[in-house]
Amino acid sequence: MTSHVPDHLMPTYARLPVSFERGEGAWLWADDGRRYLDALAGIAVCGLGHAHPGVRDAICEQASQLVHVSNLYRIPAQEQLGDRLCAAAGMERVFFANSGAEANEAAIKLARLLAHGRGVQRPEILVTENSFHGRTLATLTATGNRKAQAGFEPLVQGFVRVPYDDLGAVETAAANRPNIVAVLVEAIQGEGGIVLPSTGYLAGLRELCDRHGWLLMLDEVQSGMGRTGRLFAHQHEGIRPDVMTLAKGLGNGVPIGACLARGAAAEALGPGSHGSTFGGNPLACRAALAVLDALAAEDLPARAARLGEHIRSGLRAGLADLDGVVAVRGRGLMIGVELDRPCPELVNAALAEGLLINVTAKRVVRLLPPLIIDDAQAEQIVATVVQIIRAFLAQEPAPAAV
Ligand SMILES: *Cc1c(COP(=O)(O)O)cnc(C)c1O
Repeated sequence: MTSHVPDHLMPTYARLPVSFERGEGAWLWADDGRRYLDALAGIAVCGLGHAHPGVRDAICEQASQLVHVSNLYRIPAQEQLGDRLCAAAGMERVFFANSGAEANEAAIKLARLLAHGRGVQRPEILVTENSFHGRTLATLTATGNRKAQAGFEPLVQGFVRVPYDDLGAVETAAANRPNIVAVLVEAIQGEGGIVLPSTGYLAGLRELCDRHGWLLMLDEVQSGMGRTGRLFAHQHEGIRPDVMTLAKGLGNGVPIGACLARGAAAEALGPGSHGSTFGGNPLACRAALAVLDALAAEDLPARAARLGEHIRSGLRAGLADLDGVVAVRGRGLMIGVELDRPCPELVNAALAEGLLINVTAKRVVRLLPPLIIDDAQAEQIVATVVQIIRAFLAQEPAPAAV
């Protein structure tokens, strides 16, 4: 199937020629009645699947009472969500926004404001290669992908880039750049191809940040909300950041982002220094509260851990004999299969088999299914992905040796 460009939409996306009318759990129904298994969850957004009863009831109830009032007034659901997120993350305060990029903007702004308050006039934030932090000017500058930046120059100043998963490079930067005040990294790189840092990387960053008085700011927009087997991916490492950003899975599809902070970082943004018209409105916060309720009630992080292991071992077994498969990796239900050649066609091949997947970083098949999938659905994902990768590698010529 060829991609579709609607007449009056800016062509920022190459859209597949399929549209969905209805969903239930991990199933989606297209307007032609065909059923698809969703192994992408709207890019790690619908962790509870589609039409989750808890989220549906919360949204419907709130919509029938009050959708929006503005942050000029107290919003009980926002206060409650702040309490719940801080208790779960060991943080102190939250700023609510509407997206991942906006949550990261808040983190960048608070790091700069704190630095200025301490007399650092030209603060720098350390970021990594191959990262993704969003599409606003500051967050695309932080993003370690030239393609996202090309044509949008001049970019924002004040970022220093080092390779991901390289503590030595961070130490070198520390020695050479006296104005660094914070590190902003993904706990696991998502768009970059499901890249897990070595065990000890986040703990090493924590130690370097402590030693140099920097803020450790973790972007958990994709890895957060139970997807990796813990509520937040950094919890696998037993460390705590100073700042953490969330979005994608937080509202199960209702747009909401959050920037959580503790210590001095939690006190940096005062009245008038930052804001959002929509951020943290009653509707979005009720949705997020329902998400937290369901994650706990259904023990979904543990389920994600178990099913993720299962899917990865199934994929490894089914693909073991293929030279074209470089790696099967991931944590919980954040899974990547790296091939030795570009494979964008696999999205269409999966669609033809009734499965929604994604290919990121050109040659990594990315699976981000809802955390509520059952064992049979996990089996179907494994069987279909193995089948389409086998067929693809059998027909594609291998890349020329370089
Ligand atoms: C998706 C993503 C973002 C950007 O979120 P938006 O809601 O699209 O602005 C930022 N960081 C990471 C790690 C992401 O995966």
